[in-house]
Order: sequence, then C-alpha cells, then structure tokens
Amino acid sequence: MSVSASDAGAVRNDWARAQVRALFALPFTELLFQAQSLHRRYFDPRHVQLSTLLSIKTGGCPEDCAYCPQSAHYETGVAASKLMSLEAVMTEARSARDAGASRFCLGAAWREPKDRDLDAVCDLVAGVRGLGLETCATLGMLSAAQARRLKAAGLDFYNHNLDTSPEFYGRIITTRTYRDRLDTLAHVRNAGIKVCCGGIVGMGESREDRVGMIVALATLPLHPESVPINLLVQVEGTPLHTGASFDPLEFVRTIAVARVTMPASMVRLSAGREGMSDETQALCFLAGANSIFIGPRLLTTDNPLPERDRSLFSRLGLQPLEAPDA
Ligand code: SF4
Repeated sequence: MSVSASDAGAVRNDWARAQVRALFALPFTELLFQAQSLHRRYFDPRHVQLSTLLSIKTGGCPEDCAYCPQSAHYETGVAASKLMSLEAVMTEARSARDAGASRFCLGAAWREPKDRDLDAVCDLVAGVRGLGLETCATLGMLSAAQARRLKAAGLDFYNHNLDTSPEFYGRIITTRTYRDRLDTLAHVRNAGIKVCCGGIVGMGESREDRVGMIVALATLPLHPESVPINLLVQVEGTPLHTGASFDPLEFVRTIAVARVTMPASMVRLSAGREGMSDETQALCFLAGANSIFIGPRLLTTDNPLPERDRSLFSRLGLQPLEAPDA
C-alpha cells in the first residue's frame, strides 16, 4: 500500500501498518521531500521551539526501563535525591527563560506521584507558569484525579512516552504495561492537558518495531501535540549499554515518518543530540523536527552546550520560537 502526496496532507489517525512501513521504505530523498513539504504546510520552517528539562527528583526509581540510568535496578552511579525546593526550581526556570526557552519541563523519577508529592509539583507548575513559560511535567503514571489536579494548577503539557512498539515493549520494561501507559495518556487527555508522547530508537529494535511505534502514536484518538523522538544514549550499568551504534539516516527517517503521519504535531529532536553531528541535526530539521531541548543536561545525560547550539542555529539560519502568552 502506498501513500500519495495528496493523502499525506491531512491530520488523520487511521494509519495502517502497511502505509507507515511504506513511508519508511521510500527513497530517502523522497521521504524527506514529503516530510518537508508537509512541515511547511503546518509550520514556519525557520522556527524551532526550545525547551528545557529539569530533573526535579532524580534516581531511585522502582521501574526497570532498560535504557534508564535512574532505575534503582541498575548500578549507574546516579545518586537518588529528594524533590527540589520551589526556590531552586524557580532559579532554574528563570535562567532557562533568559536562555531563550519557551517551555520548561519538570521531570521526576517516580513510578507514579504520591498525593503529597503532587501538592508540591502543583506549586512548582504554578510558579513556573507565572514566569510566562509553558509548563510540562513527566512524573510517571497518573490517575484521572491526579491529572485533573495538575490541570487545575495550570499544567500545559504532560509527557508520557510509549517508548517503542507494543511488540518490543516487553524487552525494555517489565514493571508497567503498554496498557498502563495508554491509560495515563487517556487521563491526561481527558483532563484537558496537552499530550507529549513519543519514543526512543536505537534500543536494538527492528525497523518493524519503529513502524509499530509510529503507528501506535499516530493512531491515538488525538495525535500528541508534542512527539519527542529520542536516540538512545547508552549509559554504563544499564542493560542497553551494548556499544552498538545506530544509523543516523535511519534516525532521520524516523523523524520524517513522524512528521508525515502527525503533520500538525511538534516533533521534538530529543535525547541523543550530544552525540550527533551538526549535519545529522540539520537533516532532522529538514525532516520536520521543530523542537529541541537546550541546556547542558537532559535529566542525567549530557546535552549540547549552549555555544554549540547557538552556532548550529546561526549556521542553519534557524530562530527560536517565542513562548505563547501564558
Ligand atoms: S524512565 Fe522514568 S519510569 Fe523508567 S526507570 Fe527511568 S525514571 Fe523510572
């Protein structure tokens, strides 16, 4: 089954596996042409949204995600810490805003927040939003009531990734199910919070698994407003620290297929930029990525230094997207 350029323009959530497989199989230049054409229909290609992700509670997580240095199941040298104070988070948020970020994401290594933790996170959300930044949180699984509380505190986005295909998922995580993830996404959506949901490539999955991951995302009842596509950062001590490398062009293809199948979503080039050449990142922008994380750390792993990102934007003639009025 093929996808013609005319089919490819609309936002639709009835993507068949064969159609997504066919997109991945297109000649590289044809796929990028389709992706860039659609990108221009929905977005100004000169603009890239800048987000900052702060780990507000690091390490000691009871989940066993095989890629994650914050899991208590693995010896990675990441020390567990308590939830950061409001003052400390506000200092970080101000400096992210001054560095050009328009969205500030709060990440906590929990299976799910306890209700007393949620009280504190709601205060953080309200404080960060008061600075004129869009707010996002990633706190693990949420109940419907917890999602409603975060919405009432002013949360704009909630991140909860599907990570990979339903078929490959059990090789990566055993402590929560794909269904659990879909349930949390439904609670977030029903509470009126925008959804940030994507996955990770380079975990030893097959292309068919990348097809399955994109199908899972692009057939959600509503597409996530943000779709982070991460390249695995291998951390010593985690089961996925194998030394295997991943083809950068296959990564670019994954970004392009995300853009074609979810044309109105922000596609975020997320983890893994530190190890990517400027040329690979440029291809990702050409493939339709229009959001990145800035700042020297992405939770517990390295991210490009601000000078390198400034130079990249200058070489490519890209501009940061301004924050909407909060
Ligand atoms: S990815 Fe999140 S849930 Fe999984 S181990 Fe890491 S912090 Fe815990």
